[in-house]
Amino acid sequence: MSKRSPDTPFDVLVIGCGPAGTQAAVSAAHQMRHVALIDGGAVSLRRGRHFWSKSVEFVDAPVFPGITGPAFNRALKEWTEAQPEHEVTIDGESRYIGIRRIPGYVTDVERAPDGTLAVTMSTAMLPRDGTAPPTQTVRACTVVVASGFEDGWPDIEIESSAERAYAKYGVVFRYAGNHRGWHVCVRCDGHLHTDRELAIVGVGDYIFDVVHGAQDFTHRMTVLTNGRPHGMSDAVLAEMKRRGVRLETERIEAHIGSGRDLLGLRLADGRELFFDGFFVDEGLVPNDEFLARFSPQHDDEGLLVCDEDHRILDVDGNAIPGIWACGDIVAGERNLIASAFASGQDAGLEASDSLRRWAPVN
Ligand SMILES: Cc1cc2nc3c(=O)[nH]c(=O)nc-3n(C[C@H](O)[C@H](O)[C@H](O)COP(=O)(O)OP(=O)(O)OC[C@H]3O[C@@H](n4cnc5c(N)ncnc54)[C@H](O)[C@@H]3O)c2cc1C
Repeated sequence: MSKRSPDTPFDVLVIGCGPAGTQAAVSAAHQMRHVALIDGGAVSLRRGRHFWSKSVEFVDAPVFPGITGPAFNRALKEWTEAQPEHEVTIDGESRYIGIRRIPGYVTDVERAPDGTLAVTMSTAMLPRDGTAPPTQTVRACTVVVASGFEDGWPDIEIESSAERAYAKYGVVFRYAGNHRGWHVCVRCDGHLHTDRELAIVGVGDYIFDVVHGAQDFTHRMTVLTNGRPHGMSDAVLAEMKRRGVRLETERIEAHIGSGRDLLGLRLADGRELFFDGFFVDEGLVPNDEFLARFSPQHDDEGLLVCDEDHRILDVDGNAIPGIWACGDIVAGERNLIASAFASGQDAGLEASDSLRRWAPVN
């Protein structure tokens, strides 16, 4: 059997290995494709939303009765390791199939003259001295984008001189994803606070959506705008009042915590408010800077607009050839693990099927 040249493009390259990307990679490998799975979390602190449930167990992720984010991340990795790349021969022709996991933080995707996609990534953590990290370019026939988004964090005790999100929001991250800490998804973590006192931080329609969702778990809530105008309509304010939801517009000066437990918030006027749970919705930042060359279409939140086959649309509404997306980064999806698996499977299979040698007969 002939050895495959290192220059041969992968069939499918998946960016991101949360539930969406892992499922896309496994589904494509299952269809005899050679898959590169790019693991951004191995060389950056962008480890994916699935990772950040530090001490809270997911209870609605398929199969697992309860699992924390880091343990779930390890389980996803083990799943891909069960599909290692290897050589097969079909009708005398040798080829590689299976998954090669590559540590890399993708910074650019470009279409090569032969129509394949050249994906450039940094292969080490950003050096602290500001120098550029080493890079590598990998080619593939198709790309599946499963890089999710980063949650926006409240503007409380931030390190304004820090350039990296995790340094900037160091204090917030100490409390995020813990049982008694900051939560970003009321549907995911509301059950931890049944009939308890909730702080809900944010403004406008998005924050009223959190209030509306939290009614399934508790009726004891305070919306804190952190010094900003509340941005809610008179009708929404009237509904909040009718439901006994308090509104606090004073700026939040500091966290009151113990270890990794968040206990309360100190306001600028000196008052200290204590709660059992803390939810925040400050918007999101999609991880798709590397697609800039393709002018993808975004929705109001900044998420990628795709067609029903998970192909990313450009600003003119045309599907970008050879590039699919799945999971949280796709507009209109439920931002949940089971949905990420489902769309990951769709995108992985669509990318695989696009590589079949002959088309169906009509
Ligand atoms: C604190 C918290 C609790 C949650 N609780 C629940 C719950 O109880 N139940 C539930 O169903 N859902 C829950 N969710 C939501 C769930 O985690 C997400 O819906 C899910 O993880 C989305 O999967 P994904 O694969 O699309 O993205 P992610 O899990 O965000 O994974 C994205 C991947 O892309 C990688 N990446 C990003 N940028 C790059 C780049 N440039 N190059 C290479 N790789 C990159 C990351 O390293 C990561 O591997 C929770 C989310 C959070 C934050």
